[in-house]
Amino acid sequence: MKVAVLKETAPGERRVALVPEMVGRLKGAGLDVLVESGAGEAAWFGDAAYAEAGATIVTRPELVAAADILLTVTRPDDALLGALRPGQAVIGMLNPLADPELAARLAGRGVTAISLDGIPRTLSKTQPMDALSSQANIAGYKAALVAAATFGRFFPMLITAAGTARPAKVLVLGTGVAGLQAIGTAHRLGAVVSGYDVRPSSKTEVESLGATFIELTSVGSAAGEGGYARALTDDERQAQQAELIGHIARQDVVITTAQVPGRRPPVLLTEDAIKAMSAGSVVVDMGSGPLGGNVAGSVPGETVVTGNGVTVIGAANLAASMPTAASTAYARNVTSLLLHMVADGALAIDPGDDIQAGVVITHGGSVIHPATAALLTDQPAGGTSP
Ligand code: NAD
Repeated sequence: MKVAVLKETAPGERRVALVPEMVGRLKGAGLDVLVESGAGEAAWFGDAAYAEAGATIVTRPELVAAADILLTVTRPDDALLGALRPGQAVIGMLNPLADPELAARLAGRGVTAISLDGIPRTLSKTQPMDALSSQANIAGYKAALVAAATFGRFFPMLITAAGTARPAKVLVLGTGVAGLQAIGTAHRLGAVVSGYDVRPSSKTEVESLGATFIELTSVGSAAGEGGYARALTDDERQAQQAELIGHIARQDVVITTAQVPGRRPPVLLTEDAIKAMSAGSVVVDMGSGPLGGNVAGSVPGETVVTGNGVTVIGAANLAASMPTAASTAYARNVTSLLLHMVADGALAIDPGDDIQAGVVITHGGSVIHPATAALLTDQPAGGTSP
């Protein structure tokens, strides 16, 4: 069976789905590896390194014609979708709960679609496959660095002959995987860091990193299923936004990471919150994306300076800006998942398997992932699978 690594085509996407280090593991499982010429270039993995590891370098038409399984980081582009044939499989971060139409198109072409963002994340055996965590971890780290590089003062307290600089105050809203890494990184840079989340269980994690946990009096726990947050009601959302303003106004830097699976990211910083911040403050909106963001007025991929001098960064895809680390981690995730699904050198689809039940989105011409199928038919999902 031939596993093929595509060159990503999305604007600004520098990651690659497989790195040379993983080629040997796939070959050891009886799989041939094809790599589109230039696939790893933007992440500093040249064709020669893949070839040396035992992969065959091919053009895109050759790859599409020969591949049984195509590995991608993000969704296939329209040209590729049109070239796929029944029986081929695509493995990537396909985000079917946000983009169920893609799943419908892949099913329509008879393609088996496997999405790493559906992996059940709380099982210890799935930790090596957890691409959401590996990429969020990198993005959280980079968010703190982007904030520090944009901020016009120091993060640490500095006492010099030219005077004393007070440390920056950094608030991280949403303290899941990305938020905790942003907290840890900002703390290591010397900032005074605080964190907030609607899941009370994150308090101890925030405190263990040397940060202060902010507790709101107007909003209680919004812990949902599977370790995720649930969406707030309108009243809760308004109360949260109003109470957060007082905390936000005291910060130099705010980094937002809040997500609710399958929903628009919640707005945590309203226009009033931004107006309450001082000139020179920096906001990094990691929730920013096609569905919206955590910050009023943030634009994905763009930096906006507000009338009162607050820099708002729509940090849409920060993991792609650290392509070598992100590709290396993602390649391990995708390899672990693929090896779990391969038996006797072939892909063995078994929706009864607890991991496959989360990741196999389409197979045999149908959308078989219940939560995605429910979105396409407008039926209640009976619980989203994250
Ligand atoms: P995520 O990307 O879905 O969301 C980021 C954070 O935003 C979450 O902490 C969420 O609670 C928070 N959030 C959502 N709405 C909010 C709101 N209105 N206000 C404030 N915060 C809000 O989350 P994630 O980083 O993918 O992690 C989610 C959970 O999964 C965490 O509990 C994490 O520890 C857990 N997890 C567990 C494992 C494991 O068991 N090995 C692996 C990965 C993640």
